[in-house]
Amino acid sequence: MDQRDATERSGVRAGGRAPGAAGPAGGRDTPPGPDDRRRVPRTDTVLRDPRLVEAAGRLGAGVVKSAVRQAQERARSGTVPPDGVADTAVALLPRTAGGLRPVINATGVVLHTNLGRASLSAAARRAVQEAAGPTDVELDLETGVRARRGRTALAALRDRVPSAAAAHVVNNGAAALVLTATALAAGREIVISRGEMVEIGDGFRLPDLLVSTGARLREVGTTNRTTAADYAAAIGPETAFVLKVHPSNFLITGFTRAAGVGELAALGVPVVVDIGSGLLGPHPLLPEEPDAGTQLKAGASLVTASGDKLLGGPQCGLLLGDEDLVRAVSRHPLARALRVDKLTLAALEATLRGPETPTGEALAADPGRLRRRAERLAAALAAGGVDVRAVRSAATVGGGGAPGVTLPSAALSLPERYAAALRTGPVPVVGRLEAGRCLLDLRAVPAEDDERLAGAVRAVTATGR
Ligand SMILES: *Cc1c(COP(=O)(O)O)cnc(C)c1O
Repeated sequence: MDQRDATERSGVRAGGRAPGAAGPAGGRDTPPGPDDRRRVPRTDTVLRDPRLVEAAGRLGAGVVKSAVRQAQERARSGTVPPDGVADTAVALLPRTAGGLRPVINATGVVLHTNLGRASLSAAARRAVQEAAGPTDVELDLETGVRARRGRTALAALRDRVPSAAAAHVVNNGAAALVLTATALAAGREIVISRGEMVEIGDGFRLPDLLVSTGARLREVGTTNRTTAADYAAAIGPETAFVLKVHPSNFLITGFTRAAGVGELAALGVPVVVDIGSGLLGPHPLLPEEPDAGTQLKAGASLVTASGDKLLGGPQCGLLLGDEDLVRAVSRHPLARALRVDKLTLAALEATLRGPETPTGEALAADPGRLRRRAERLAAALAAGGVDVRAVRSAATVGGGGAPGVTLPSAALSLPERYAAALRTGPVPVVGRLEAGRCLLDLRAVPAEDDERLAGAVRAVTATGR
């Protein structure tokens, strides 16, 4: 739009403007003087700055132009001088061409759904980087012929869960269930306890998902008690499988009873167990969380799980168990629509074969060490004039896992206003609000991020926001 049109229509004095000066400036209450506006450098002039030329190669021309326009806008409104436009544009450039920004998870929720659940290990990040180009995901380099997609990741899964005869990987835990129900139970019945008809995430109801595949649910038992005899009475020629779902995000206590996988396996139909969290073996700190190996050994035919919960890997869904069932599931036409990409396979294998994951480290973190880190950080920040103290805190596992489990932790306690300022700073830090204070819980913050965390707090203090 021509600037004159804009200013005339909004009734603002047009003022002089050099032909070609970039961008509309109308509609302001107190427009800058004509001289200032004429001095805002043209877009093509700013774009010749070598730093911006380099950035255009790295981030794309559109991203750089958008930063230049924002900088020009600031010059027009008088918040930066006209000769500071290039510097401002450089400062406004994003780190990457993507919109997702790395944040420090100081919420005290180890697997925070809104922060993308599990944080990948350094080994998994490197594997993703390596697999980003052409890679042998479906090619045997020895023979030069097509090979099974993701075979090394699948082998890693079977190595970690020896009781699984076969394995398959799909997009997420929900996809694992959909594929299982579609391939094994469409037009037939899934027998499920009324105590396991659960809502997993906001609006994600497992029974709705199962019914959407064309399978029918045969509900047995009650909310709090279901016995093996309840299942036995419901099993018939229409039964495709019995489904056990881990109630992963709530607890039922009191007068309760549930049938064990061993009892159900004796009923003569396949038993599918959705364990949710992706633990492959028992976890000493989370005795109530079911794991794939134990369930299979107890007689489960198939176990489904998420890859980005307690396993600490990329988002994906795992299917582990009986060879015939895994084959039926993985050869169903829907499997093609739910398959994972090479980056996921790379990250999953590195998670399975590599060192301890950030999730594992956060779970196992020693409360005494967390406390000492908090005290050291608080002392250093307080010496710089920050209103901060180290406090005890209670962290949780999160990600719809280990309900009722609290992990003793330590946090920095800051004035409430820090919450928004830290979230919107150059290194976004997400904490939590508690009793009018902003808590930065260290349970899910790797120790090597302590200095970045302190730097973010200092930056907020310095700007007084
Ligand atoms: C998390 C969860 C799911 C869904 O897994 P996604 O990976 O989020 O799709 C299904 N069942 C249970 C028991 C879960 O805990």
